[in-house]
Amino acid sequence: MLFVVTGPSGCGKSTILAQLVKDVRSISFSVSHTTRPRRPSEAEGRQYYFVSETEFKRMIKKDMFLEWAEVHGHCYGTSKREIAARVKEGDVILDVDVQGARSIRTLRKDATFVFVLPPRAADLRKRLLDRGEDDNASIRRRLNNAKREIREASSFDYVIVNERLNRAVLELEAVVLAARCRAESQAAKIRAVLRSFPAAKK
Ligand code: ADP
Ligand code: 5GP
Repeated sequence: MLFVVTGPSGCGKSTILAQLVKDVRSISFSVSHTTRPRRPSEAEGRQYYFVSETEFKRMIKKDMFLEWAEVHGHCYGTSKREIAARVKEGDVILDVDVQGARSIRTLRKDATFVFVLPPRAADLRKRLLDRGEDDNASIRRRLNNAKREIREASSFDYVIVNERLNRAVLELEAVVLAARCRAESQAAKIRAVLRSFPAAKK
């Protein structure tokens, strides 16, 4: 199954997802490609694959992305290869912007879409400042984009307000576990249980 998480920069998506993949079995994080410079706390292949603009353009030309978008002045994309490799191991969770979520919705109607909200604008600003990994111009650009992004929240399947981190993590975990229990996801299990019954006597 595919889970797509969106929300304005700094609302806490990466923090929530990092905890979720530790807590929940058989789900992994899809690592995107980006032309954004690596932050001091980030490692190649962990949060992102960091590539040059030339390399990113080559990947677009070769149709290697499921979706890609320009966000806050840099390019970000989900490679088809990344998703194909991870779905073999279990469920996959993506952190993409609103445009990416929109593209995936047209391609994968089966995916579950979640929007993460900050409690208030002031909290978002404080989180971006406290994270201390983007320069002032970049923080301004992220805050300016946040309102436009949040206007789309109501079109998602689920909305989580990240006020208390532990609660937000539990809510996202609940979404994943509930999606796994949907009847259409349980067809193989239903058949297996039925097979465990003895054949009816004539
Ligand atoms: P995003 O991935 O959405 O850009 P991050 O996960 O990087 O956001 O979080 C931005 C900052 O906010 C980080 O410094 C993180 O530790 C902090 N943060 C995340 N969730 C909360 C929360 N519920 N309360 C306070 N700070 C938070
Ligand atoms: P950041 O630079 O803060 O890591 O991410 C900036 C924005 O890019 C976030 O909104 C994040 O969700 C989005 N993003 C990350 N990876 C992808 C991707 O592969 N595709 C798209 N469309 N957006 C992405």
